[in-house]
Amino acid sequence: MKVPFLDLHNQYQTIRCEIASAIQQVLDSSAFVGGPFVERFEEEFANLCGSRFTLGVSSGTSALWLTLLGLGIGPGDEVITVPNSFIATAEAISMCGARPVFVDVNEQSYTMNAALLENAVTSRTRAIIPVHLFGQPADMDPIVAFAEKHKLHVIEDACQAHGSRYKGRPVGSIGIAGCFSFYPGKNLGAYGEAGAVVTANPDLADKIRILRDHGQTRKYYHAMIGWNSRMDGIQGALLSVKLKHLLDWNEARRKNAALYDSLLTEIQEINLPKKMDYAQHVYHIYAIRTKNRDKLKDFLAHRGIDCLIHYPLPIHLQEAYRPLRLERGSFPISETCAEEFLSLPMYPDLAGNQIEYVAQEIRNFYS
Ligand SMILES: *Cc1c(COP(=O)(O)O)cnc(C)c1O
Repeated sequence: MKVPFLDLHNQYQTIRCEIASAIQQVLDSSAFVGGPFVERFEEEFANLCGSRFTLGVSSGTSALWLTLLGLGIGPGDEVITVPNSFIATAEAISMCGARPVFVDVNEQSYTMNAALLENAVTSRTRAIIPVHLFGQPADMDPIVAFAEKHKLHVIEDACQAHGSRYKGRPVGSIGIAGCFSFYPGKNLGAYGEAGAVVTANPDLADKIRILRDHGQTRKYYHAMIGWNSRMDGIQGALLSVKLKHLLDWNEARRKNAALYDSLLTEIQEINLPKKMDYAQHVYHIYAIRTKNRDKLKDFLAHRGIDCLIHYPLPIHLQEAYRPLRLERGSFPISETCAEEFLSLPMYPDLAGNQIEYVAQEIRNFYS
């Protein structure tokens, strides 16, 4: 049996008529960049997140970067985040001229450990970016409390957590802004590049609206130096179609995760992803932890099962961040995650018998 890591084609088959008609409407109206299809999606996505504004942008990376710029963060400033994330979280900080400062993650949730913030904060700190890793929200209450005490902004990196909730509250609505990616493989994926910033703050929304469009306040009048970070009409239109299915797809992911959990629970050598009490997990990634990770990955690959590693090297040890001079050993939990995490196939259309096959082969490996 073949079990790909991700199968976008199957999902597309279930919505191809809706998608075709959405794209046709954009073609018929020539609203290729920004415009009514993007605006409609922005409104719908703001509703999902229980927040006032959504600004459609060109990617999740742009969403993070524009949010930092919109908050006036730049050279001389520090922003605290975690080293076990996709590099974009730190890159966005660096690309606005600020310095990323890392804190390690909690051993259970693999998200930001708020108890470590005290050691990382300085007089230059301006913001904190927790990452809702793999679809599970970070423990936001202590992070927000710390930020309030030190007058810092909290920006949620919700690029892996569309539709997820923290203590009942939709992610993206907890910090001053939430940043989302619609990269094709995400829980809500475009058919190209796209992203969004969600915020209830009208000033920040205005700034980002201007920044994403070359700093224009009206056509060819530029109030500030911005960039081209706009969302395409076609992406907006098909994201509206896919958004209608998001909660069902997330539910299917949770069912798949529960099946993995029940089939793998007796294997002593692996740690299953822990669902925190405060979280509604949306399982963008289902990652197990094991000491024999590389051998298990090869074993499964030979049996037609594709797994990935998120992420094989934590950000502070990447060559790009060598100038920060952070040694191995600086963030032990993130480093262990990089050595032990293995992401199993996970998507809404993954079939029960595929999950059973993956679990059976993992059992075979250990017996
Ligand atoms: C995908 C992702 C991003 C970047 O999003 P793009 O749309 O690919 O630019 C940022 N942070 C995290 C945690 C991500 O998973």
